[in-house]
Amino acid sequence: MFLSSLVLAILGFGIFATGAVVGSFLNVCIYRIPWQKSMIWPSSHCPRCMTAIAPGDNIPILSWILLRGECRNCGARISARYPLVEALTGCLFLAAYLADVIYAPRDSWGQLPLIGLGATAYHALFLALLVAATFIDYDLMIIPDEVTVTGMFLGVALGAIWPGIRPDPSTASTSLAGLGVGVAGLLVSAGLTQAVRVSSSAVFRREAMGFGDVTLMGMIGAFLGWRAALIIFFVAPFFGLGHACWKLLKSIGKRLRGRQLSNADREIPYGPYLSMAAATVLLSWRWLWEGWARGLFGTLYVLFWWMLGAKVDEPF
Ligand SMILES: [Zn+2]
Repeated sequence: MFLSSLVLAILGFGIFATGAVVGSFLNVCIYRIPWQKSMIWPSSHCPRCMTAIAPGDNIPILSWILLRGECRNCGARISARYPLVEALTGCLFLAAYLADVIYAPRDSWGQLPLIGLGATAYHALFLALLVAATFIDYDLMIIPDEVTVTGMFLGVALGAIWPGIRPDPSTASTSLAGLGVGVAGLLVSAGLTQAVRVSSSAVFRREAMGFGDVTLMGMIGAFLGWRAALIIFFVAPFFGLGHACWKLLKSIGKRLRGRQLSNADREIPYGPYLSMAAATVLLSWRWLWEGWARGLFGTLYVLFWWMLGAKVDEPF
C-alpha cells in the first residue's frame, strides 16, 4: 500500500489546521464584509484598547484558550465565537477530506488520492463560503453579494476548468459542458427560490425570504448542480425548525406579558439553514445519491416525459 494510515492521518491533521486558519480569516470576513471594510488592513486588533494582536497571539483556536478568552493588553473579553468558527471550519474541512478521500472508493483515485484531494479543496472552498454566509446572516439578516456572487462565479468557473468535479450526475466531460452545468444549476436554484419567495410574499403579505437567499441558492446550484440544490432547498426548513419553534415560544411569551411583537420576533434568518442543509447534503451525497436520490430523479424524469406523452427509460 503506497499510502499508509499514518500519511493519511497526517494529511487529515494538516487539512484540519488549514481549516482553522481559513476559519480565522472567515472571522475577519464575517466582521468586516457587511461594513465594506478592508480584509487585510488594518490587522486584527482588540475592540476595546485597539492594540494590534501580535502574531503569536493570533494562532487559531489555541491562542484564545491560552489567553483564556481575554486581551493580553487590557483583559477585555474576546468572544468564544472566534475559536468556535475556527474549530467549525477545521471540522468541516476534515469532514470533506473524510468524505472525498478516506471513505471514497479507493479505485476511483488509484494510489495517490489527487482527485480526492482536489475534490476536498473544491468542497472546502464551498463550505468556507457557507460559514461566512451563515454567520453574517445570523448577525445582520443579510447575505452580502461579496460572498454569494463570488461563490456563483467560483462555482461556475471551477466546474468549467475541472468539469468532473461536481457531484454525480452533475459532472461533465468537456469544459463547455461543465460551464453549462454550472449555469443551469445556478439558474434553476436561484429561479426556484425567487419563485417561492415571490409567491409566498404574495400569500403571507410579508417577505418570507430575502434576495440574499436567492443568490445563496444560486451559489449552491453553481457548485453542486441543480439536483443536489433542489434537495437542499426542500430539506433546509427541517434544519430551521428548532429555531422557528424557539422564536414562536418567545413570541407567545411576549404576547402573554402584553407586549408588542417587533419585526425581529417574526423573522428568522434562512441562510444558516440553507447552509446547514447544503453542508449535510454535500458531505453525504455519495451515499444519498446511490441510496435514494438516483431513484427519485429517475422516477421524476420518467414521469416528466410521460406527462408530455413520451415513454423513456430511466437515465442513470
Ligand atoms: Zn485590549
